[in-house]
Amino acid sequence: MGQRFHFVVDPQGWCCMGLIIFVWLYNTIFIPKVILFPHYEEGNISVVAVLCYYFCSLFCIASLFRASVADPGKLPANPKIPITEREYWELCNKCNMMRPKRSHHCSRCGHCVRRMDHHCPWINNCVGEDNHWLFLQLCFYTQILSSYTLILDFCHYYYFLPLKKENWDVFVFRHELALLRISAFMGLIILGGISRLFYSQLMGIFTYKKMSNCCETCKSRPQKPWQQTFSEVFGTHWKILWFIPFRQRQPLRIPYHFASRV
Ligand SMILES: [Zn+2]
Ligand SMILES: [Zn+2]
Repeated sequence: MGQRFHFVVDPQGWCCMGLIIFVWLYNTIFIPKVILFPHYEEGNISVVAVLCYYFCSLFCIASLFRASVADPGKLPANPKIPITEREYWELCNKCNMMRPKRSHHCSRCGHCVRRMDHHCPWINNCVGEDNHWLFLQLCFYTQILSSYTLILDFCHYYYFLPLKKENWDVFVFRHELALLRISAFMGLIILGGISRLFYSQLMGIFTYKKMSNCCETCKSRPQKPWQQTFSEVFGTHWKILWFIPFRQRQPLRIPYHFASRV
C-alpha cells in the first residue's frame, strides 16, 4: 500500500508544482551563496547553521517529491469486499465502482481515493490515506525552511557584522539587495499560506478524532487519544518516524476497541 508510483497528467498541476520547485531552488541556491557561506567564511556563523539549512531543504524537497508521486489510496478496479464489511461500502455514482465509506471521487484525477482529504495542485496529486503523512511533513518542513530563510534575511541586514565582500562574484555583488528582497517576499507568502493550511490540516485530524465518537457504535468505544490518531495517519507509533520522509508507511494494526470500520 502506498508504494506504487503515481503520476497525475495535469498541465495546471505541473505549473503549480513547477512554481514551488522554483521557490525551493531559488532559496537553496541564493541563501547559502549570499548569506550562509560568506558569513561562515568570516566567522559570523558556525557550520551547524549551514548544515541545518541544507538539512531542512533536503527534507522539504524529499517530502514534496514523495507526496506528489505517492499513490494517495486509489481503489483497485475490482476490490474484494469481505461479506462482513459490505454494509460499510457504497457505490460511487461517478466511476461506478464500489468504495469504502469516507472515500471521495476526485474529478481531477478521475478516480476514487480512500479517506481523501483534498486534491492539491501544489503537489499535483490527491491527498488521501496513503500520502497524508507525507503532505503533513511537507507543510511542516516548508514552514521551518521559510521561517529559517526569513530569519537569515533579517539577520543579514540587522544583526550579523557587515561582510567584507572581497570574493563575491559580480552578479551577487550587484544584485544582493534585490535577491534578498525577492527571497523575503517569497518566504512571507509561502509561510503565510502554508501555516494556514497546516493549521487546518491539524484541526481536520482532531475533528475526525471527535467525529469518530459520534455514532452509536463509536460511542461505546473509549475516545481515541491524539497520539493514536496521528499514529494511524503516519503508520507508526514511533514519534521520531513521524518526521522522516525516507521510509515506507505501513497501515497500523489498530487495537480492536479503537478500530474504525471504514
Ligand atoms: Zn469514483
Ligand atoms: Zn485528485
